[in-house]
Amino acid sequence: MSLTVDVEEIYHDLWPPGEEEILKYYDYKLPKGTFFKPLRSILKIFEDYHVSSTFFVLGEVAEAFPEIVEEIHDLGHEIASHGYMHRDFTKIPFDELEKMEKRNRSLLEKITGETPKGFRAPNFQINTEVLDVLERIGYLYDSSVAPSIKIPGWFGYYGAPLHPYRPSRQNLVKQSEHRDFFEVPVAVFPHIRLPAGGGWFLRNLGVDYVKTAVRLLLRKGLPVVLYFHPLDVDSNVPKFDGIPFHVTRRCGEYTLKAIEHILKTFSDCKRVPVMSMLEEAYGINI
Ligand SMILES: [Zn+2]
Repeated sequence: MSLTVDVEEIYHDLWPPGEEEILKYYDYKLPKGTFFKPLRSILKIFEDYHVSSTFFVLGEVAEAFPEIVEEIHDLGHEIASHGYMHRDFTKIPFDELEKMEKRNRSLLEKITGETPKGFRAPNFQINTEVLDVLERIGYLYDSSVAPSIKIPGWFGYYGAPLHPYRPSRQNLVKQSEHRDFFEVPVAVFPHIRLPAGGGWFLRNLGVDYVKTAVRLLLRKGLPVVLYFHPLDVDSNVPKFDGIPFHVTRRCGEYTLKAIEHILKTFSDCKRVPVMSMLEEAYGINI
């Protein structure tokens, strides 16, 4: 089981119906540190429950606050990339994307002294071409696929495996044998394929919803990758006009307690970084 965290500002995670709405709040100026307090709440729970995990860090946040990245790394967590900027990667020209992400990987490497191996796309917007770019840069895995039914305007790669796999270069829901690059999908209900991995689902559909999915996946011997954001545990999310209520519903105490509840419920399950999950649980030797 891996309880991953996307390290980004609160405004990066607003989920309005379109990118234009995000841009009203996300002006591409320097990050402001709105994530400090909620991130520390997550780190504290992880410390209390001996959780080792993967933190997908946004490059521009790492650039502005390298000491935070160092702190997470020093606590024994895996540092991976969440892209340099919180943009739709499928819309960036590939040569520009490759240059930007190479720089980002070097930046994270400089801060931690270790080369990041994993990647998660901002807003889970991924395609086969972006995966090719990531592989070329030297990443070993991506964790942006929710193998769920398609949710319009959001995500969903119905038919993708529920376990880590080598994605085909033609179709990312298909497996290929000829590649040393892995996709590590996030948690969904195994049969009905409803998404269940993230903070939004935890906050809006409740902790029992996520717990049920986790139980079903574990029963089948499948790995569980959950993901949270600083926003999810922020008790002081500012009011944003035009953002639907469900985007910030039950942020803060509810989610912190829910994460704790999940950790207590599945206390027998090892909580490891994604890279360890690939190496240990699947015998993948990278
Ligand atoms: Zn994000």
